[in-house]
Amino acid sequence: MIVENMNRIKKNIEDSCIACGRDPKEAMLLAVSKTKPAEMIQTLYNEGHRDFGENYVQELREKEAILPKDIRWHMIGHLQRNKVKYIAPFVTMIHSVDTEELALTIEKEAAKNDRIIPILLEVNVAGEETKYGLKPEETAALAEFVGTLPHVKYCGLMTSAPFLEDPEDDRIYFRKLKELSVDINNKNIDNINGNVLSMGMSNDYRVAVEEGSTIIRVGTDIFGARNYNK
Ligand SMILES: *Cc1c(COP(=O)(O)O)cnc(C)c1O
Repeated sequence: MIVENMNRIKKNIEDSCIACGRDPKEAMLLAVSKTKPAEMIQTLYNEGHRDFGENYVQELREKEAILPKDIRWHMIGHLQRNKVKYIAPFVTMIHSVDTEELALTIEKEAAKNDRIIPILLEVNVAGEETKYGLKPEETAALAEFVGTLPHVKYCGLMTSAPFLEDPEDDRIYFRKLKELSVDINNKNIDNINGNVLSMGMSNDYRVAVEEGSTIIRVGTDIFGARNYNK
C-alpha cells in the first residue's frame, strides 16, 4: 500500500513537472515519516527510496540507529538548539533554520563533527502567527550571516503554506518563496547561492511543483493519517 502510494506521488510529481516544462530530475519526493514505524521506512527503502523527513529529534535518533546507514535524513521540524548535537553527526539537511542562534549552534556542532551541514532557511511566507519561520524581509540578512559560517552551507528556502481548502490558494505563497530565493541569489552575497525550494505537502504539492518546488515533503498521502496520541 505505502509503496503504491509513494510511486503514485512520484508519478504525479513527474507528470506535473513535464506539464509545466520542468525537468523531473529537479524535483524530489521527501517521504515524511514522523510518528510512523521504522518498518514502514524499511519498506520504502527496499524499493530504493532514500530520503526521509522527520520532525522530532528523539524519534529521528532512534530511527537512525536501527535503519540502514545510507538513508538520507532530513530534519524538517522546529529544532531546539540543545538538540542539534544529536543529529549533527549524520543529518543530510536541516530545513528549519530561522535564527542566528540556531545557525551558530549548527556551525559549532558541524565543526565538531568535521563536516559541513546543508541547511535551508524556513520562511513563514503567509505570516501565520502559529508558525515558526522568518518573515520574508528578514531572510536575506540571515542568509548573509549563514554565508560567514564555514561549516553551514546555505542551499535555499523552505516553507509550509497554510492548510487551505483549495490548494490553488497556496500558489501565491509558493510563488513568493521562489521570488525571495531568486532575490537572495541576486544579491551576490558571499557563499550564498542556493536553488533548493522545499515546499508542497500532501494537500498542495502539485501546485508547489508548478511553482518551482525542488523538495516535496509528503507524509499523509504516503503513510496514511498520523496518530499523535499513541
Ligand atoms: C508533517 C509535515 C509534512 C508532511 O505533511 P503531510 O500533510 O502529512 O503530507 C511536511 N512538512 C512539514 C514541515 C511537516 O511537519
